[in-house]
Amino acid sequence: MADEVTVVLLGTGSPIPDARRAGPATLVSAEGATLLVDAGRGVVMRLAGAGVLPGALDAVLLTHLHSDHISDLNDVMTTRWVMSLDPNPLVVVGPYGTSSLVTSILEMLAEDVSYRLEHHDDLREPPSVDVREVSPGDELVLGAALVRVGQSDHRPVSPSLAYRIAVGDTSVVCAGDGVPCASLDELLLGATAYVQSVVREDLVRQVPSIRFQDVVDYHSTVAQAAATASRAGVSTLVLTHYVPPIAPGAEDEWRAQAAGFPGTVVIGDDLTRVVVSAQST
Ligand SMILES: [Zn+2]
Ligand SMILES: [Zn+2]
Repeated sequence: MADEVTVVLLGTGSPIPDARRAGPATLVSAEGATLLVDAGRGVVMRLAGAGVLPGALDAVLLTHLHSDHISDLNDVMTTRWVMSLDPNPLVVVGPYGTSSLVTSILEMLAEDVSYRLEHHDDLREPPSVDVREVSPGDELVLGAALVRVGQSDHRPVSPSLAYRIAVGDTSVVCAGDGVPCASLDELLLGATAYVQSVVREDLVRQVPSIRFQDVVDYHSTVAQAAATASRAGVSTLVLTHYVPPIAPGAEDEWRAQAAGFPGTVVIGDDLTRVVVSAQST
């Protein structure tokens, strides 16, 4: 029987503030592997909603260093540290720049760390983070998962990465932000499920803001994500990071724009959960 992998959309929002949607974050888990991809606004609350505490994560994978994808990494680091009874280093995988980011976060938290070390006799070590800066083509073993690093196209943001997370025969590609590209196609080939940030160009074009119009040129539209999924032959397309936020009841309108993809299209609110396995391909 093929391995089952569960994908939970922890945060389906974007930089646009939304009371119902946390910032970008996706939980990918299977027997022996619990991985968090990106750590946007509210991620620790949504992890709790999914029944996972930061201390239980095998790793955090960052697709890129845009603020909406990293803004609550500090909360993951602190909550893991203060809630773990023994030293519990957090593995943070990300592109070049991740090491500097984590160093800066630890500097930001220096006063808090000193207060807690002074207050709790049984807390003897500061937070420990095991940073692994990776490049396309790299492979890592994280718990029971084999993770392959790919290149996404989110220019001018560079580097930006996609991750193929495989547990047994089943694999989920978390593509992060970006437009279709050959390297993403290559990473997706033969995968089971594909998680992609999307924008609705038709809705964005209605907003008279030059700065907002800029989001279209470095994000996939729903139709582009569907075309990428079709080329790859995945069985499940999971859409997230909705720009603009999906209006209540408008899910079918978004789904209709993915009509070219013959497989299952998952669209939903925060904490939407889908279980995939290679058998369904
Ligand atoms: Zn981005
Ligand atoms: Zn983003």
